[in-house]
Amino acid sequence: MFELPEYITLAKQINTTLYGKTIHEGSLGNSPHKFVWYNRTLQEFAALTKGKTVGKAYTKGRWLFIPLIPDYVLVFGECGGKIVFHSTLNDVPPKYHLLIIFDDGTALSAMTQMWGAMELYAQGDELKRQYIRGMRPTPVDPEFTNQYFSNLIDESNKTEKRSVKGLLTQDQLIPGLGNSIAQDIMYNAKLHPRHPIGDLRGEEKKRLFDSIQKTLKEAISMGGRDDEYDLYGKKGGYKRILSKETERCMTCGGKVEKMQYLGGSTYYCPKCQSE
Ligand SMILES: [Zn+2]
Repeated sequence: MFELPEYITLAKQINTTLYGKTIHEGSLGNSPHKFVWYNRTLQEFAALTKGKTVGKAYTKGRWLFIPLIPDYVLVFGECGGKIVFHSTLNDVPPKYHLLIIFDDGTALSAMTQMWGAMELYAQGDELKRQYIRGMRPTPVDPEFTNQYFSNLIDESNKTEKRSVKGLLTQDQLIPGLGNSIAQDIMYNAKLHPRHPIGDLRGEEKKRLFDSIQKTLKEAISMGGRDDEYDLYGKKGGYKRILSKETERCMTCGGKVEKMQYLGGSTYYCPKCQSE
């Protein structure tokens, strides 16, 4: 699944490659998949996208927004898989969940894994959508300061006792983080996924904040994780510290452990990450 670094990479690449292109034909999937969330019929999508021009793409959390000028916004949300540019129509895969063909004979196709939204809104209406409406600041927003983060920890622990993994991945408290990047953030912060946030000392909170910033910055600068694809169908350059491939901790050499915890597998080093 794409997380913040992959979405930021896609938005940058869309702005280099697709910005200003005019849509010849837009179509929704030819490969049925009940977990793709559409908000338009095939006919509506085709009629509303025809003749529109691609504006400057941007992201917020795990959502990617591509203005289709005038008046519309194409939204990809909480998906993984591939959102890929094709320099000729010959390269378009036989199956897709969304396809846009441009006037110059190039195209964009999208195919999600698991699930994901591929929706078209009249500009402004996307802000009313569940999960976009009222979204908290993401770690790349200027509002996401050390003070904001410290308050977020205190506030989110009042309603429910939470762990570090819960803080990073649940209830969109920190939009844009998913299991993969959260694992590396916890490793870099030397905190165990189950560590209660109520027990974090000032210095540990700061370490966690710094780790969020540092880990994301690195993954963004490398063009996303190396197990996800970018707009050109290439894998990102960020090599995960912890994944199913990792046997030994790169700091202490100890065995990396795996546990099922809060939605999915989590890898961690029991020696380096304090519980
Ligand atoms: Zn270790």
